[in-house]
Amino acid sequence: MTAIAIDGPAGAGKSTIARCAAKAIGFIYVDTGALYRAIGLYMLNRGVDPAKAEEVRPLLQEVRISLAFEDGEQHVLLCGRDVSQEIRTPQVSMAASGVSAIPEVRSFLFSLQQDIAKRNNVVMDGRDIGTVVLPNAQLKIFLTASPEERAKRRYEEMLEKGQKVDYNNVLSDLVTRDYNDSHRAVAPLIPAENAVIVDTTGNTLEQSVAQLISIIQNRINID
Ligand code: C5P
Repeated sequence: MTAIAIDGPAGAGKSTIARCAAKAIGFIYVDTGALYRAIGLYMLNRGVDPAKAEEVRPLLQEVRISLAFEDGEQHVLLCGRDVSQEIRTPQVSMAASGVSAIPEVRSFLFSLQQDIAKRNNVVMDGRDIGTVVLPNAQLKIFLTASPEERAKRRYEEMLEKGQKVDYNNVLSDLVTRDYNDSHRAVAPLIPAENAVIVDTTGNTLEQSVAQLISIIQNRINID
């Protein structure tokens, strides 16, 4: 099996770019952020503070998460219920960032992510895919862009979905999440040693996708 790991900060366009690239090369696209979001959502629904390890830890044994792929689209199931849409809110983003700093949450999701990559050719995106989850991935990419550009893209995406948001709130949430994700003790967001750094600031989506596909084609053999 072949694995391509794509890591980077929130709003770098990882999911859109990785999804398009995966489709172009016939790999499945795995969005690991959705798993942390599902746990964050579970904790919010249970009235627990997602950042408090002592509150989150005992509830983990109740959580059932699985991924299903329909026409190449990932669906995340939380205790049998499809929560793929529900996890895309600013509250759940922050909750995901909170639970993701808890070591037990990371180990809980570790084998699930590895199993998928054992059984499929994957483009997997997250924060620690190249460093922790798939250290032997054939290709590692670290996708980034300036905080302002990432906030602008996220803001426009939310407006398109009809969500009412304020640009400054989007930017400050993003900067907080970047800080949390890069400063946590376990699996912090850092580029893997052998990662190719791709900065998409100023690129259109099409340019970024084309750049990613060309890096993939240069680095790995796809039949
Ligand atoms: O990628 P996305 O923005 O959906 O991720 C939500 C949160 O989940 C991130 O801010 C990060 O805290 C966490 N995460 C992680 N490791 C991953 C993927 C996501 O810690 N592999």
